Amino acid sequence: MNKLSAKTSTILPAMRISFALVSLTVSLLLIADFAGFAPDERQAELRARKLISESLAVQFSILGVNAETQFYRFLDVIINRDDTILTAGVRNNDGNLVFQVGNHAEQWGNYNSQKSTASNILVPIMKNGKTWRTVELKFAPLSSDIFPGIISASIYKLALFILIFGFFAYLFFILRTLRQLDPSAVVPERVNAAFDTLTEGVLILDEKEQIVLANKAFAEKLGRTPASLLGIKAFELGWKYKPEDKSGKILPWTRALQNGETHMGFNLDLPVSSGSVRKFVVNCAPILGDYNVAQGVLITFDDVTVLEQKNIELSSLIAQLETAQVEVTQQNKELHFLATRDPLTGCLNRRAFYEAFDIEFAKAKKQGSELSCLMVDIDHFKLVNDNYGHSTGDDIIQLLANILHSNSRKDDLVGRYGGEEFCLVLPGLSADDAFSVAERIRLSIMNESIKIYERTGPNVTASLGVASIFDHAENPAELNNQADRALYVAKESGRNQVIRWDPSQEKLPESEADAFESTAE
Ligand code: GH3
Ligand code: MG
Ligand code: MG
Repeated sequence: MNKLSAKTSTILPAMRISFALVSLTVSLLLIADFAGFAPDERQAELRARKLISESLAVQFSILGVNAETQFYRFLDVIINRDDTILTAGVRNNDGNLVFQVGNHAEQWGNYNSQKSTASNILVPIMKNGKTWRTVELKFAPLSSDIFPGIISASIYKLALFILIFGFFAYLFFILRTLRQLDPSAVVPERVNAAFDTLTEGVLILDEKEQIVLANKAFAEKLGRTPASLLGIKAFELGWKYKPEDKSGKILPWTRALQNGETHMGFNLDLPVSSGSVRKFVVNCAPILGDYNVAQGVLITFDDVTVLEQKNIELSSLIAQLETAQVEVTQQNKELHFLATRDPLTGCLNRRAFYEAFDIEFAKAKKQGSELSCLMVDIDHFKLVNDNYGHSTGDDIIQLLANILHSNSRKDDLVGRYGGEEFCLVLPGLSADDAFSVAERIRLSIMNESIKIYERTGPNVTASLGVASIFDHAENPAELNNQADRALYVAKESGRNQVIRWDPSQEKLPESEADAFESTAE
């Protein structure tokens, strides 16, 4: 089917070319004739008639006068042998016809001119220097006179001959030439068949980059037939370079032909008839001839359209996963924050506080570095709640938490110990430094509350206890307990003050402390 259409597609242009050539040849022939280069048939005919007439005059002059009868027989023979002479007659000086061959009287008619024409020739026979008889020869009209049209002259016949036979001769010649030049003839059919079995696209180009072989797989990807690709230059297919391509827009097969080297893994896109774009990984191997000069190139096309599509989908999926991961991490952070923070104040809750306290305590012990603990408790908070309501009580708790945060560093631990009690762990701070921090806190809560509740109250104060790791606490609980004991002393000593833990407080009887606490309640 493909072959048939290929042949039909060759014959039609070949016919057109041969018709053009034959027309050209005939035109040249006619121009040559018009310019006088062709032999003049009319002149030749006239010369022949003149020759016959002259030889008759000589014959008659020799025979006629003395052997008139013989001459007439001779004339009869001559006329019958020569097709161009229709009739002949012999007339005496009186104008009477004394002898005729054929129906001369009728043919000659009343032609009585003394001059010969191309078809009416007069041959005078002389006797004693005077005209004795006149032989009249009636010739057929010259062929150019009978057929003044195209086919009358031999040049026109020749032109007609060339027009008919020349057309077929040219056609035969062109078809033979085309067959020799036909790109599909370069590759044997069995080679074509072998390449057609491959799923990979294959092209073979000649040294002019013309396609001499396209396998089925490649043609199908383009929505074309292999035959329709033959003879065209590979770049004419409309390849698109990838934006990131650094090849200087030289196609890989052009390079392979130029430098005779193999080029692998070249990415090219090709818009195809369906409107979509196919993506190929292209490998080119030159076909080397004598002296290692590339005479063609073998190209394979690996269609990675689907693969690239999958890659794009995968990249998008990975991007989505990364976004989800960020969201999850963020949510985990939020969850962790919620799990470790007290919702009212944002301080570490008791469990999270002790976990971090354990770590910081161990670190300080290991490094032998300073670490202090502060216990903070709002004075007479119960009264605040009672007199101003729980909501104001909550506001006061939040105010204290803010003051604790603004008076501590990033690595300090601020925990809500319970109710209106807070605990701070200050790594690296000595008892004196921690005492200063505690004092700042005490003043802040007092001053801030005055600022906020100046007229209405409550005027809030807090008591603080300070203890240092260098006071020989064995564990976080003990250090916390020491700070708590100092706080107890601060409460005992009239509240709104900071007390540093003193090891001598250890000697306070348990019962006394308990009694104080119960009094406080
Ligand atoms: P002291 O000076 O001896 O510490 O007296 P105090 O009244 O502060 O002592 P106490 O520990 O007996 O009172 C604490 C009160 O704090 C009891 C409780 O109702 C209140 N409280 C605990 N947690 C909250 C809270 O989250 N919001 C409010 N508004 N009040 C709370
Ligand atoms: Mg209190
Ligand atoms: Mg309390």
